[in-house]
Amino acid sequence: MGNSYQLCCSVCDRFYDPARLRNLCECGGPLLVAYDFAKIRREWGKSALQSTPSTMWRYDPVLPADRASAISLGEGWTPLLPAPVLGAAIGARDLWLKEEGQNPTGSFKARGMSAAVTMAKKLGATRLAAPSAGNAGGALAAYAAAAGVEVHVAMPADVPQANYLECEAAGAHVTLVNGLIGDCGRIVAERSQAEGWFEVGALKEPYRIEGKKTIGYELAEQFDWELPDAIVCPCGGGVSLIGIRKAFSELEELGWIGSKRPKMIAVQATGCAPIVRAFETGALRSEAWQHAHTLASGLRVPKALGDFLVLKSIRESRGTALAIGDAEMLDGGMELARREGIFAAPEGGACVAAIGKLIASGFLKPDDRIVILNTGSGLKYLEAYGTRFIRNTAGEADKLGGLITPR
Ligand SMILES: [Zn+2]
Repeated sequence: MGNSYQLCCSVCDRFYDPARLRNLCECGGPLLVAYDFAKIRREWGKSALQSTPSTMWRYDPVLPADRASAISLGEGWTPLLPAPVLGAAIGARDLWLKEEGQNPTGSFKARGMSAAVTMAKKLGATRLAAPSAGNAGGALAAYAAAAGVEVHVAMPADVPQANYLECEAAGAHVTLVNGLIGDCGRIVAERSQAEGWFEVGALKEPYRIEGKKTIGYELAEQFDWELPDAIVCPCGGGVSLIGIRKAFSELEELGWIGSKRPKMIAVQATGCAPIVRAFETGALRSEAWQHAHTLASGLRVPKALGDFLVLKSIRESRGTALAIGDAEMLDGGMELARREGIFAAPEGGACVAAIGKLIASGFLKPDDRIVILNTGSGLKYLEAYGTRFIRNTAGEADKLGGLITPR
């Protein structure tokens, strides 16, 4: 099936032909994909989903490529799990978990990179590059390996070990930077022209968000086209939050859902909360957060390119934004593991803490249908969770009977 779309600037509404490899609009604004819904609506219906693969490419009429040409590792169509035991503990009687930790490379970043690498390769890029706070780099490395293209990733030197190792394992060229993702982004941008790299940083090209938006399509389909009352999203670069909202407006254009929208709730870390501050002050854009620190590495984004789109999405959905401390996040993550058996990223743990606060304040009601977007697996964050446990050394464990040392 031929996909019919144009690229449209999210700032100045200028249109571009998608046949050429492109980063931002001339004005510097992120480009978004605008489909011809009149055409898609005639050719595609819900019933077509019965014979589609269990990946995000089941929605390929609203993706930039068809599934036959996709670079896919089986991303998407992750479980939507009820969380009744955790829900009872935190006062949310209709609580659900979108378990993105089950994606290839253990995080939701797989979706965006599947779409971005597919399109970059199709349009002729041979060397890809991106800055990453952690999981995006790992996902990019994996999809670039699957596509057979060269890849360069710049990451903060203190990125979780798993993210560094998965990049190296997949053959990526990794640059560790004494700084944050913004510093990594500057280095990638400075070197891209000379090195012939195509940048696939968040919102720096039009297709990562297309992959990410499939979370919204899946939530709608998995809830039988009745959207929940609230979606609680960890917010670093904010692409999933924007993407989910994009999915919902597209679904309404398709006539598959009505006008009801969930409140979008952005969760950040107290050590890096630029969106929360901008939301609270009524600003249209965020200001770069100074001395950003949090062990939820995915939330360590001091200034997001799409901040204005995130803030617009939160406000239009009558949602909110709040920040959670690192200790509360880890407690939330362990609560989720203990009560539901899902070992979540600290970002997912932050959502648990956020819901507790929002129920207590009355912003969320106990009977609201609430979805936690767990963006990744806790297994990628062993150093962070390790701060909560003292591991027995061999000698100690001997005494406790916990570890057998060969004699
Ligand atoms: Zn523009």
